[in-house]
Amino acid sequence: MSILKVARIGHPVVRAAAKAVPKEIIRDRLFQKLIDDMRETMYEYDGVGLAAPQVHEGLRLAVIHVRGSDERTETEVPFTVLINPVTTPIGEDNENGWEGCLSIPDLRGVVPRPKALKLEALDRAGEPYSLEAHGFLARVIQHECDHLDGRVYLDRMEDMRSLTFIKEFEDHVHHDEE
Ligand SMILES: [Zn+2]
Repeated sequence: MSILKVARIGHPVVRAAAKAVPKEIIRDRLFQKLIDDMRETMYEYDGVGLAAPQVHEGLRLAVIHVRGSDERTETEVPFTVLINPVTTPIGEDNENGWEGCLSIPDLRGVVPRPKALKLEALDRAGEPYSLEAHGFLARVIQHECDHLDGRVYLDRMEDMRSLTFIKEFEDHVHHDEE
């Protein structure tokens, strides 16, 4: 397995719409290796999710893993592969929450998102699945799916004044919230 180079904003791949994954390549060795390499890359950089365009692959593929020890979540979300994901918001409620991104290093900002959604996708065996997500998981899924359309969280921010370096976040924001 390899740790992949992460594309940062400014690289065109981060802003391009990704292509649907053809079902027939999902079981191919190279595609399975891409999934494994994305998992390693996400762990290496302490991400909770990673989308293929962030590793220079213009495919509708993302991986997610939210550990139970992560204070932003109430439940552990095991390693999950999203191929050709489609999300549909549930209800009208939006919620503000902090987001960061491996393609925008060292920054965090407050982003409004629908609170709950239904996800439909294929798993790494090419089998369809669906799930309902709320709270932090819904946020992570939406953040990763945005990457597949060439969108980053900055585009969704309503007030850029919350944009904060992680060190200042730890020193001031996080401190104040406790
Ligand atoms: Zn991101």
